[in-house]
Formats: sequence, structure tokens, C-alpha cells
Amino acid sequence: MKNIFILHGPPGAGKGTVGERLSKNLNIPLISTGDLLRENVKEKTELGLKAKKYMDKGELVPDKIVISILLDRLSKDDCKNGFILDGFPRNISQAKNLEKYIKNEKVKVVYLEANDDFLVNRLSNRRICENCGAIYHLINIPPKVPGICDKCGGKLIQREDDKEEVIRNRLAVYHKLTSPLLDYYKKKGVLFGVRGDGELEDTVKQIIEISKL
Ligand code: ADP
Ligand code: ZN
Repeated sequence: MKNIFILHGPPGAGKGTVGERLSKNLNIPLISTGDLLRENVKEKTELGLKAKKYMDKGELVPDKIVISILLDRLSKDDCKNGFILDGFPRNISQAKNLEKYIKNEKVKVVYLEANDDFLVNRLSNRRICENCGAIYHLINIPPKVPGICDKCGGKLIQREDDKEEVIRNRLAVYHKLTSPLLDYYKKKGVLFGVRGDGELEDTVKQIIEISKL
């Protein structure tokens, strides 16, 4: 049986950081539609060029584009024992498309919870390595040398959409379009709530316990 996790929660709740840890622990890949889209933007693919204008404003990229990029990734060999999704699905239509693809496989949805002020603080201080994608926080997880990645020596940059006005819009989009999914998964009995604003170690531990259920 496959191990399928969906990490749900507002931008900045820690889906990426927690997901990386979970991926190592459960030995299944972490798949972030945000990362897949950013790769397409970087490589200037046709889909990437279309997606960029939505991403820069913090709007959702049209379903057709995201679903095609995601299903392509899920067809790869490393997904055969399961996978962890970060940033997908973001609306009911995406959720239904995923169900069609995974058929009868069970999913667990982990909801990482945090309030908006906490999230704005976390995101506006976030820096990422341009080279390896490692995530830093200027105050809580600063790099040893300012502006340089501890892991690979790459340059740390701020995502275009981690500027405050765009963050506020991403949160608004989340509350309007993505949070209804909580009800959807709750009704299916597959939703597990975990605090996203506590210690990383605690959060990871709780989710590993959930994976054993
Ligand atoms: P965050 O969850 O922190 O906002 P992501 O890296 O998941 O950041 O997403 C960045 C942007 O990529 C989103 O604001 C949106 O434009 C686009 N995106 C990512 N995943 C999806 C998705 N499933 N559906 C539509 N747009 C998406
Ligand atoms: Zn790096």
C-alpha cells in the first residue's frame, strides 16, 4: 500500500521544512507544486511562462497547468511507494483530480495551523538558497555567514512572493480558496491537525506518529 500524505496549511506554516524531514524519515519523495512551478519558470518552459504572472501576484496558477505538471511528476518511479504533497491540492477541483489519479489509495491530510501575524513574520524573514533550496529565517534559523547557504555555499535570496504585500494576498487567497478543503477532508475523516507555530522537532514527531496510524 502506498503512503500518501498531503501537507495542508497556509503559506509559511512550515509545509516545506516539515515535509523535507518527513520525506527522509518515511523514505518517500516530497513534491511541492510551488517548487515544480518555480523550476518551470526558471527554465522558461511554456507552462512556466504562463504560470509566472499568477505566482508573482500570489494568485493561484490555473488548475490545468498545475495538474499537468503534478501528474507528470507523480508518474516517476520514485513515487511508487508513496509521496508527500506540499501545496497541492489547493481547491476542491484539484483534490478531485488527485483522487481520480490515485484511485482507491488512502491519503492522510496533515493540517499545519498558525495565525496570520505569525505567518507574515516568518515569511518576510525567510530566505532560500538559490542553488539547493535550503530554507533559512533571518532571526530563527540564520545562516552562519550572512547571505550564504551553510549547506552548499549558494547565494541566499528572497522569493519575489515573500514581500509583505504579496504575502498578504497569498494569505487572503488561502483563506478564500484553499481553507474550504479542510471541511472536505474533515468529512472524509482523513484530517489531522498539528500546530505549525511550535518547535519543529515537536511538529515532526507528531506527524511521524500520525504516519503510523
Ligand atoms: P506558499 O504555499 O508558501 O504560498 P508555494 O511555493 O506552495 O508557496 O506556492 C507559490 C505559488 O505557486 C502560489 O502562490 C501559486 O501561485 C503557485 N502554486 C503552487 N501550488 C499551486 C497549486 N496547487 N495550484 C495553483 N497554484 C499553485
Ligand atoms: Zn544551498
